[in-house]
Amino acid sequence: MRAAVVTEFAAPLQVREVPVPTPGPGDVLVRIEASGLCHTDIHAAHGDWPVKPNPPFVPGHEGIGIVEALGEGVTSRRVGERVAIAWLGSACGSCRHCVSGWETLCAQQRNSGYSVDGAFAEYAVLPAAFATPVLEGITPLDAAPLTCAGVTTYKAVKVARVAPAETVAVFGIGGLGHLALQYARIAGGFTVAVDVQEDKLQLAKELGADHLVNAREVDAAEAVQALGGADVSIALAASPASFEQAYRALRPGGRLVCVALPADGTITLPIFDTVLQGKSVIGSIVGTRNDLADVFALHAAGRTRVVAVPRPLESVNEAMADVLAGRVPARVVFEL
Ligand code: ZN
Ligand code: ZN
Repeated sequence: MRAAVVTEFAAPLQVREVPVPTPGPGDVLVRIEASGLCHTDIHAAHGDWPVKPNPPFVPGHEGIGIVEALGEGVTSRRVGERVAIAWLGSACGSCRHCVSGWETLCAQQRNSGYSVDGAFAEYAVLPAAFATPVLEGITPLDAAPLTCAGVTTYKAVKVARVAPAETVAVFGIGGLGHLALQYARIAGGFTVAVDVQEDKLQLAKELGADHLVNAREVDAAEAVQALGGADVSIALAASPASFEQAYRALRPGGRLVCVALPADGTITLPIFDTVLQGKSVIGSIVGTRNDLADVFALHAAGRTRVVAVPRPLESVNEAMADVLAGRVPARVVFEL
């Protein structure tokens, strides 16, 4: 099968022939149809983060495909079913986090395209229990971005407990941001889209953002404060400066939700302001299988719109360069 392989950090990925993986007991073999490119895949390929993957490996954690074979003992999935391969490739199922509905915090978890081979390939295997079914009527091109960008921002809105008529400022309108805006609106929030690119802000406007702020032209925090401040700021841009703006944009009682992962990023919190104004800082990592099922249900019901550009897997290196340069409207999805 063809796969895009990271052979060493910072070297271009190689699209080459590798053996089709064999499903072990409890696994499914999935024939990939579409595979989204997330910023995390670029961090993985570059070995940016403290815990690094082990080359050679195959990135990709927005994989959509058809179950082609079942490993021994699998009864929960069937051949021919369309499923998603998300960042949460597996979790132990029995620790306090797994049992309490926080499987995304499981210390034993494996991550698709990072600690196990992912979906930038014609086939992938994963435990059947973690192959989330994709609802009828959702195209693979739409389902792929929902599998990370969608579930991650859905969860961010959920953990922020956005209430109707609250103001939600979304910092970074790309693959994640264009969906974050939509989930914030579904929760009843007014939305402020913050980005440094005019085309991204136009996309936000088309998706119903109430206010647009160009952070290249104005101090974004002051601009949001001029609108009354944000009850919730969602930090999606991989830039520590943007996190700091997102914090300063909060009104009293506001919640900053940290989602993006700038390499070596830190933010400095003013303690007085945080205490006296009752502000919260919340970390939010992807979402559970149930969250992903919710995301698919919302999309199947016509409540969200996915903006994605299809590309061949052979263009993987060019696509990564385009994402880093901000030349992609929202999401690149490799079609296989
Ligand atoms: Zn991702
Ligand atoms: Zn666990």
